Amino acid sequence: MIVLKFGGTSVGSVSNLKRVIDIVDQYVKSDNVIVVVSALGGITDLLLEAGHKAQTKDIEYKTSLSKIKDRHSDVLTALLPNKSTSVDSFVQKSFTDLELLLDGIFLINELSVKTQDRLLSFGELLSSFIIAEIFINRGYDAICKNSQELILTDNSYTSAQVNFEISNKNIAKYFNSNKHKINVLPGFIAKSESGESTTLGRGGSDYTAAIIASALNVSELFIWTDVSGMYTANPKIVKNASPIKNISYQEAMELSHFGAKVLYPPTIQPALKTNIPIHIKNTTRPDDFGTIISNEEINNQNAIRGISNVSDVALLTLQGSGMIGIPGFSKRLFETLSREKINVILITQASSEHSICVGINQGFADKAKKAIDNAFDYEIKTEKIDPLIVEMDLSIIAIVGDPMKDHQGISGKMFSALGRNNISVRAIAQGASEKNISAVIKGNDSEKCLNILHERFFESKSKSLNIFIAGVGNVGERLVEQFNKQHDFLKTRSKLNVNIIGLSNSKKMIFDKSGIDLNNWKKLLQSGERATVNGFYEKVRTYNLRNSIFVDVTANPDVANFYKNYLSNSIGVVACNKIACSGSLDYYKDLKSTALKFNASFFYETNVGAGLPVLNTLNNLVLSGDKILSIHAVLSGSLNFIFNSFNEDISFHDVVREAAKEGYTEPDPRIDLSGVDVARKILILARESGFDLELEEIENVPFLSESGLKSKDVSEFYESLKNDEEHYQNLFVKAKEKGCRLKYVASYSGGKARVALEEIEPGHPFFNLEGKDNIVMFYTDRYPDQPMIIKGAGAGAEVTASGLFADIIRTGNQ
Ligand code: ADP
Ligand code: ASP
Ligand code: MG
Repeated sequence: MIVLKFGGTSVGSVSNLKRVIDIVDQYVKSDNVIVVVSALGGITDLLLEAGHKAQTKDIEYKTSLSKIKDRHSDVLTALLPNKSTSVDSFVQKSFTDLELLLDGIFLINELSVKTQDRLLSFGELLSSFIIAEIFINRGYDAICKNSQELILTDNSYTSAQVNFEISNKNIAKYFNSNKHKINVLPGFIAKSESGESTTLGRGGSDYTAAIIASALNVSELFIWTDVSGMYTANPKIVKNASPIKNISYQEAMELSHFGAKVLYPPTIQPALKTNIPIHIKNTTRPDDFGTIISNEEINNQNAIRGISNVSDVALLTLQGSGMIGIPGFSKRLFETLSREKINVILITQASSEHSICVGINQGFADKAKKAIDNAFDYEIKTEKIDPLIVEMDLSIIAIVGDPMKDHQGISGKMFSALGRNNISVRAIAQGASEKNISAVIKGNDSEKCLNILHERFFESKSKSLNIFIAGVGNVGERLVEQFNKQHDFLKTRSKLNVNIIGLSNSKKMIFDKSGIDLNNWKKLLQSGERATVNGFYEKVRTYNLRNSIFVDVTANPDVANFYKNYLSNSIGVVACNKIACSGSLDYYKDLKSTALKFNASFFYETNVGAGLPVLNTLNNLVLSGDKILSIHAVLSGSLNFIFNSFNEDISFHDVVREAAKEGYTEPDPRIDLSGVDVARKILILARESGFDLELEEIENVPFLSESGLKSKDVSEFYESLKNDEEHYQNLFVKAKEKGCRLKYVASYSGGKARVALEEIEPGHPFFNLEGKDNIVMFYTDRYPDQPMIIKGAGAGAEVTASGLFADIIRTGNQ
């Protein structure tokens, strides 16, 4: 004899039911089978919905009822087209009884737990009857047996306690005298001694199957569901979770107790007692191995078997100086909770005995508060203890593994990973058996937390980065393309899984939690939602994904003003926008310390020299103890291009136009030609060297003509260039006469910075600087005479994008 349990999704659709038939058919060839079934997927929820609507006098319960009828009728039509009238009349009678019950609830607007259990029993009664008929109809020796006639419970409705002595006898007796090939039984439902319908708790069909399996001491229990086993974490939340091949009863019990819904926690007890292996399998992928839960020795080096979480948790804290050293407080607390039938998920007590914390399902929080405050009324009135503190909307995350007790540093690893990602932990509990460590965290951190811990314990060599990019102009577009091209390479070569989750231009923004389709992003963006700087930030924040990085590829001051918000939510910032780092010294310092405090990366290599490793090199010098003495640099690719192309044969106006056309200048070329852009760069270099400086303190020697400096807009500026050609030619000729070339030079020395157009003599390292190249010379304690020189392309969309790319990858190595 073998027991197969099929869950709601397995029997929830015609196509899945066909798979169930095929699976059962395989087993029937060699053994008699007991098939325990849940209600058709979603029916239990619909029954509850109908009941609650009826109870609140909402006539819409009729709509829920129609949905329930339709779902069953669809299955009947597809799989039992020539059903007998007896089948039809059973189903119709069940529908009528159900309707009468709901009408009754509506009439008296009351839904007691007793009535609720009766209401829910319709789901499994109908599914088991229909599924048995499907087998009979296909010529199998099949029968439907109502498990309510076998499993006896007390009358704690909604999660009744099984009377094993009587139930085991009933089950053994029935199956000893009834030998059918296929025996279909409803899961989840039972009966009390007084003959009322009871249920074993949501998800309880697993339990029914285990009760029957252990009463008959069968060789194996199969739980067929919609996933390929018990996973290292809920696969619906953690994309990289994988099925656990072998797991012990205790580990499976811990995981399911802490939320691994794939197995209803009480299921393990009967199987453990009789040592029956539980095999979890996927109905839609029957060839997948699945998970075997047993007592077998497990050959796996990993200290952790899995991670699970329980959401909607309330934390109750009972505290007060009157508790210290006086026994009996905890006993009274737990007796009170037990009397109210409130299940305790987690307990922690500080060693001072000054307080005790208990985690429960938050649906029971009000009830618990009333009962506990009432039970400790005297102590509260006499101020020995405080009224119960209730915190809502929490989650419990648990890491589970038998081998944990033999490995050191597991909790250190767990809490440092959480700390680094700025997850605050409300309470911690470690089971005495050292099979689990659990932490209470904020509910909306739980998805992030599961992924962080999964990455830490199961994907130690790989890391996911979740990228949000604002600005998809020239540079941003290249950046997106580079990620599209390199995605697979990064995954295999650097174990980095980089996904772009959000994209925005000034008008629209789009998001996709599982990664935007980068082959189609332009089209998707066109039909995105309206973009605002704050709206984008709010989205990134509420997604709350681990390793989130905001990338600023705009030149927008409003965007730069949001960096602090990102950083203080532990969201990394990578910027090519230089406004923040060249803004007020206070803001710059504030951003750096916020990044440190919240463990967030803040990189802006492309602020100076585009893709050249200028800031990184400078930082390495400073960090290793070198001292920067002076800096001399040509930092504007656009100005270098302009002065390299300008001569007596071409007008200054035309050269600037050409540079703008090639994308070497800002859209407003005055930002480059006024020297402001270069001033910002030398300011950043000075600050990164450790010197406090403001933009206004930088000496800016203008080379533009009077009218160029005063121009009110871009077209007026171009006009001035045309008119003042002589002024520019003069600059050129004067330099040429001395054999010099014009270069726009930024320098820093002794606390002073300056930007100016300079005449550079032959032999100087700047003299032969080509095209739009940049050059930076650092004179330091270690490089006092021969400077450290960095030289190369300092402008252009492709190199700037690759600088951003490098910064983003760097956040992954933090
Ligand atoms: P059934 O209807 O077959 O009883 P359930 O919905 O009760 O199925 O349980 C299966 C679901 O359990 C999966 O779809 C998955 O979302 C959830 N789940 C939670 N934690 C885990 C885990 N660690 N491994 C597998 N599934 C899990
Ligand atoms: N149908 C019940 C529920 O949805 C029992 C089960 O599926 O195991 O909770
Ligand atoms: Mg289930």
